[in-house]
Amino acid sequence: TVEASIPEQLREAWRKHSASEFTSKEQFEKELVRHIETTLARSLYNCDDNAAYSGTALAFRDRLIIEWNRTQQRQTFNDQKRVYYLSLEFLMGRALDNAMLNVGQKEAARDGLKDLGFRIEDVISQEHDAALGNGGLGRLAACFLDSLATLNYPAWGYGLRYRYGIFKQEIIDGYQVEIPDYWLDNNPWEFPRHDVTVDIQFYGTVRKTQDQNGKVQHLWENGEIVQAVAYDVPIPGYGTKTTNNLRLWSSKASTGEFDFQKFNAGDYESAVADQQRAETISAVLYPNDNLERGKELRLKQQYFWCAASLFDIVRRFKKTKRAWSEFPDQVAIQLNDTHPTLAIVEMQRILVDIEDLEWDEAWRIVTKTFGYTNHTVLPEALEKWSVPLMQNLLPRHLQIIYEINLFFLQYVERNFPNDRDLLTRVSIIEESHPKMVRMAYLAIIGSHKVNGVAELHSDLLKTTLFKDFVEIYGPDRFTNVTNGVTPRRWLHQANPELSALIAKKLGGHEFLTDLTLLDKLEAFVDDKEFRTEWAAIKSRNKVRLAQLIKETTGYTVNPDALFDVQVKRIHEYKRQQLNIFGVIHRYLTIKGMSAEEKKKVVPRVSIFGGKAAPGYWMAKTIIHLINKVADVVNKDPDVGDLLKVIFIPDYNVSKAEVICPASDISEHISTAGTEGSGTSNMKFVLNGGLIIGTCDGANIEITREISEQNIFLFGNLAEDVEELRHRHFYGEFQLDPQLAKVFDAIKSNMFGDAAHFSALTASIEEHGDYYLVSDDFNSYIAAHAVVDQEFQNQKEWIAKSIASVARMGFFSTDRVINEYADSIWNVEPLAVKD
Ligand code: PLP
Repeated sequence: TVEASIPEQLREAWRKHSASEFTSKEQFEKELVRHIETTLARSLYNCDDNAAYSGTALAFRDRLIIEWNRTQQRQTFNDQKRVYYLSLEFLMGRALDNAMLNVGQKEAARDGLKDLGFRIEDVISQEHDAALGNGGLGRLAACFLDSLATLNYPAWGYGLRYRYGIFKQEIIDGYQVEIPDYWLDNNPWEFPRHDVTVDIQFYGTVRKTQDQNGKVQHLWENGEIVQAVAYDVPIPGYGTKTTNNLRLWSSKASTGEFDFQKFNAGDYESAVADQQRAETISAVLYPNDNLERGKELRLKQQYFWCAASLFDIVRRFKKTKRAWSEFPDQVAIQLNDTHPTLAIVEMQRILVDIEDLEWDEAWRIVTKTFGYTNHTVLPEALEKWSVPLMQNLLPRHLQIIYEINLFFLQYVERNFPNDRDLLTRVSIIEESHPKMVRMAYLAIIGSHKVNGVAELHSDLLKTTLFKDFVEIYGPDRFTNVTNGVTPRRWLHQANPELSALIAKKLGGHEFLTDLTLLDKLEAFVDDKEFRTEWAAIKSRNKVRLAQLIKETTGYTVNPDALFDVQVKRIHEYKRQQLNIFGVIHRYLTIKGMSAEEKKKVVPRVSIFGGKAAPGYWMAKTIIHLINKVADVVNKDPDVGDLLKVIFIPDYNVSKAEVICPASDISEHISTAGTEGSGTSNMKFVLNGGLIIGTCDGANIEITREISEQNIFLFGNLAEDVEELRHRHFYGEFQLDPQLAKVFDAIKSNMFGDAAHFSALTASIEEHGDYYLVSDDFNSYIAAHAVVDQEFQNQKEWIAKSIASVARMGFFSTDRVINEYADSIWNVEPLAVKD
């Protein structure tokens, strides 16, 4: 064994001096002061909140790294199957608070910091969010890492270490302005591994030769080499010794600092340019959510990250000296969307070109290893890469893709003879100009399981997008794993008071690792005192959000008003336009009321937040409209506190942690059939907010769990969408009369120059209303009227809130990860002994 390779005497010496972790306030203070004085070279006299943050983070980092080392040793000695989660995005947010809570030393830190003159909240808020993701897909990956560690699965995440994460959003004159998010200065959570590097090749040519035995070989030569350097981020589990690893790759030129030949020849600029070109690969996260643009640099990012990760995984496997046939018993690789699909091709290349396996044997290993998660049916989000682009950048991989396709089409032809249309439909290569590689098809063909992320979404995959593949492979390759969220961050960390109240009632915090235990709360729905405490916590969370609103927008809102929240990426399919049109409708209605009528109005604050992709004009127009409506409504004395409109700038994970616990109602109102799952819907309900939503994504399963009484559903169903669009196309479109009044108001320049918003209104009135805003408007307004009415009965409202939380047990990522482990990865947790 690996262990026996080190003499006992040596092991003993190491053990004796092995670092230990702090477990008390005093020990924490000692570590904190040591780091502030020596690592940071500060003193009592110049230690500000930021230095206190760095010192605290370093103290906790030490703890994590001790556990990290032990976990990695344990997993290596144990030598069982590991999971590798490949995701181009990890939307982690802040790490310190999470680390404190997961290792269970937050109170020691709070008290220790207080002794030294600091407030823990101020210290925590110094941290810059790690925002290496766009939205739901990236945040899901982050929640998965938390659950994998908490459940003791031997698992690694692999991603890219972007120098710039998702841009910071400022709102200037009502417009979104993007500011680069340089987040790496002062980041204590990563460990550069300058010894873990991989050379990655691009471009070049493929030469075909034969070896001594006459076997054909493909040599990929004369390419450009870029170096991948590993940076490791420790991922602590909650209440366990397991600390897993997230490995992020950073790019640099492989020839060292400069190409010295060029440098000596006086070509200084071009030597620096080469260096910069290499570093460009991991420089920036593409800021598109649910949209693929086919840019070469993006494909370079994808291959760079897949090739480095695969090399690393294979290197680790080879250390075990096992036969290749055992690879799928040791390794499960999950593809988060199609972004890492090239990993399938790279694996086949490694096995065939480098390790000399026969094609069929290699392919069996590959398909047993990979699983693919689809996140969307939106056509604009489905990845396709142009064949000429791929030919130039990755010539050998394109050959392998053609080969995979050939064998696949032969298989289809054998099983479905003489069906030319079928062959054209399912071919990995789309016969367009230029030809395109369809990445989702490649991912299906190269994986043993394909899953959607909510029941409706998985059903739609099987009946629409991937219908032919269900015919070809049978239904077993396709499955559903409904998304979830980690209750550690999204209940315990984001809403400490609610977590404490629940723990008091249930006799402990066990629900944080078994969320189904929440069902015991149902017994207290009629407990008056409990209801009062529950409502008081919601109220305090609303005050906290009101402060954030004041700080970020300057507006004062009344915390007793109904807080109505829609925060998520801005997208036509998510329909923030429906929401703001609804707000305008409410505004016009209030303006038309007598003083008597106004007394009956439930005061409301409509809160929006979310980023638009920088090139997505319609989304930016929606942001602009929301801000212009806010300008008018918020200073209209006819309305006063009855309606306020807020756009919180720069929505991110840290802000989500303040927003989610503070909603009375939140909006998940995508056109039916367009949202994969949604995860913020789960976060809001878990924090005692009710939701208004369409029958889409995981809203459907949330309804099933919490019951139809506890959710405000509206709108057309997925099964009717196609027919409605068809009718619009053939001119059978009538603008909803209430929406027409809203459009009249916009066109009267009530919210500034109507020309700014004409594309938005025209997309509905003139261009077919693809997202069915008009079709759903009436039912949306009616659902809000019911919300207003029910909110007035606070007793019932709180009862609904408690009953809903009690039934949210299903939506923990712990359940999700166990499902993946059982039905896709076939991996077992590794028990941890003290
Ligand atoms: N962005 C951030 C910062 C989040 O925290 C979340 C999830 O809570 C999302 C996006 C995804 O939101 P939704 O499921 O509403 O699209």
